[in-house]
Amino acid sequence: MEKISVVVSCYNEEKALPLFYEEMERVRKQDFENIAEFEYIFINDGSKDKTLEIIKGLREKDSKVRYVSFSRNFGKEAAMLAGLDASVGDYVAVMDADLQDPPALLRQMYDAIKNENYDAVGTRRVTRKGEPPIRSFFARIFYKIINKMSDIEMVDGARDYRLMKRQVVDSIISLREYNRYSKGLFSFVGYNTKWIEYENVERVAGETKWSFWKLFKYAIEGITAFSTTPLIISSVIGIVFCIVAFLAIILIIIKTLVFGDPTSGWPSLACIIVFVSGVQLFSIGIIGQYLSKTYLEVKKRPIYIIKETEKEE
Ligand code: UDP
Ligand code: MG
Repeated sequence: MEKISVVVSCYNEEKALPLFYEEMERVRKQDFENIAEFEYIFINDGSKDKTLEIIKGLREKDSKVRYVSFSRNFGKEAAMLAGLDASVGDYVAVMDADLQDPPALLRQMYDAIKNENYDAVGTRRVTRKGEPPIRSFFARIFYKIINKMSDIEMVDGARDYRLMKRQVVDSIISLREYNRYSKGLFSFVGYNTKWIEYENVERVAGETKWSFWKLFKYAIEGITAFSTTPLIISSVIGIVFCIVAFLAIILIIIKTLVFGDPTSGWPSLACIIVFVSGVQLFSIGIIGQYLSKTYLEVKKRPIYIIKETEKEE
């Protein structure tokens, strides 16, 4: 029988985890009995609550449960990678612990790979119900910008919830970059991907770990990881300014020769200096972003550090 690995990253999910496990088991018994075996891989991403105890409890009563526990919080991207690294299934599903990724869709995703010749199935939420409007607004702008800037297609509303064949998983774990932006990595590896759409579901328990600031940083991450367009933009702005300055110089020389030179126009000069320095700092900032990412990559620090797994029991 084929095996499906379900990778679940968990950060302070003591409330949601038992509910997740229950629902997942229900779906497994209902949709996958005699079709596929399962293994659950829970990644404890340095939780500060009882998440690890709960995972260990599940492990005690169910040998399908495996876990990886980090030495601290490394972030969801690192947790997902650790899960993929640990998985042994012929298919791997990546899911959130809060049931925002409905396990009930799994059978449909599995069938798409089995019968329709897809290599991976991704999910997209078509509504952003239950989300602050301001967040949806910025999310929409972000997807517009990044798709203009990058050759890699980022699907608006795409979730990390997906089911992949082993081959796709192996391709993804071969990408060992430190600054991970999964939506881009999934798209980067290619393969035939089917998109299933569903309505946004709110989390069952606990709270979202994403603040606006965290999301903003994540957006910058996505852009710098998959596009160098900002660098080109700053170069273009630089060139435009040079041309404007050159024309202005010629104009001023002619004006001085024809009309003489009463000392005038210093306020406008001050404004121009401030404006141009602003543009310069902005451009240096952009370069700095890329430089800092490069810096982190070059150090080759591990993407995550494991404190314990179920193997040590
Ligand atoms: N998560 C994680 N590490 C983190 C933050 C989040 O493993 O540092 C997990 C979290 O436990 C959940 C998933 O990533 O299973 C999605 O997080 P959340 O539900 O807070 O994000 P949202 O659904 O609001 O985008
Ligand atoms: Mg969630």
